[in-house]
Amino acid sequence: MDSVREGDLVARFSGDEFGVILNNINGIEETIVLADMIRQRIALPFLINGREVFSSVSIGIAMASKDYNEAEEVLRDADIAMYHAKEGTKGIEVFDRSMHTRALTLLQIETDLRHAIERKELCAYFQPIIEIQSMKLVGFESLIRWNHPTKGLVPPGEFIGVSEETNLIIPMTLWMLQHSCEELARWQNQSPSNKNLFLSVNLSGKHFARKDLVTQIRRVLVETQIDPSTLKLEITESAVMDNAEAAIKMLKELKQLGVQLSIDDFGTGYSSLSYLHRFPIDTLKVDRSFVSTMEDGSENGEIVRTVISLAKTLGMNVVAEGIETVHQLHQLRILNCEYGQGYLFSRPVPLPEADTMVDDKLRWQKILPPRVQMKTPQNKPPIQIGLTQ
Ligand code: C2E
Ligand code: MG
Ligand code: MG
Repeated sequence: MDSVREGDLVARFSGDEFGVILNNINGIEETIVLADMIRQRIALPFLINGREVFSSVSIGIAMASKDYNEAEEVLRDADIAMYHAKEGTKGIEVFDRSMHTRALTLLQIETDLRHAIERKELCAYFQPIIEIQSMKLVGFESLIRWNHPTKGLVPPGEFIGVSEETNLIIPMTLWMLQHSCEELARWQNQSPSNKNLFLSVNLSGKHFARKDLVTQIRRVLVETQIDPSTLKLEITESAVMDNAEAAIKMLKELKQLGVQLSIDDFGTGYSSLSYLHRFPIDTLKVDRSFVSTMEDGSENGEIVRTVISLAKTLGMNVVAEGIETVHQLHQLRILNCEYGQGYLFSRPVPLPEADTMVDDKLRWQKILPPRVQMKTPQNKPPIQIGLTQ
């Protein structure tokens, strides 16, 4: 309270949200200075039960003007600016009209998305995962798509963020899990040669943090009757590393269901090796950004080689994401990378096309010339990685 001036008003809206009305202020610069003082003050450590605790703050500023008719409108805009501040790094944002447009767009997507779930406009696409040595189809990753009535097929990048903010990600993921596991069960029951076909499903960090996740996965396993070991859950590196101790607990509980666990987009976050060691993970998925730029001797090629060695040391296998050229495939073969996925094999496809792939699992063998000589580069012995706890 002593960070504001006499005559200013501080009020608590809810939970950890507060509003400050600054009276008699000389323009935006002075407002920002005052907001920054509040920010710095809150950032100072304080003691709770003898323990030092830190807190951060995000501040949104809306300047009163003649354009506003109601106090609520000013509050709404300050709130919008505050959400921008949360996303950014500065901690303070001043409202401008473009933020309002964006907020309206997001609101529109959210409303449409709620209808999409009810109207069954969501659908699963399947991208094949190939065993690199045999060039045989071993499984699929199911990727969500939104069949929008006017916009056509909308990719997940355009709605996963909003669905996470609004918690719609939970019903969406449950739908994806149930629906794609039903297809997996159908494939597996079609022929004994499909029994080991597996399916990877993406989990958002937000969902991963929920206690009821284990019960939800168990329910899908019971209802679809698939062998749990043929379901692979993909979690991004940042989702597990952000709160590693809680992640270990959750991963262990999921593992007890018998499912497999994968770290997605590996290499894009900040993995702590000591934690990686303790995670009951089966697979590392090397991010596309490394695979797409791997050339002989390049830094990214070295990163892929290191990740493969690291995975071997930890008893995990590797899926290389985003393979687009035969050259990349050759290199991954030489590095003994187990599995691959990418446009070279196929883009994600709708169900009927995935069905034809299941019927012809060896169709990718023709990508490689019949007699590819496999050799390990003379000057590049496999990397040895030792980890201690
Ligand atoms: P991801 O899980 O890493 O999935 C791989 C993405 O890379 C997919 O994009 C796929 O189409 C794309 N991709 C695969 N091979 C290639 C390639 O060779 N070249 C290029 N340029 N791209 C390739 P998509 O389907 O747009 O999905 C983007 C992301 O959205 C996914 O990344 C995943 O993080 C998220 N996502 C997709 N479906 C779901 C879902 O059901 N639940 C959740 N939580 N997230 C999902
Ligand atoms: Mg994935
Ligand atoms: Mg990925």
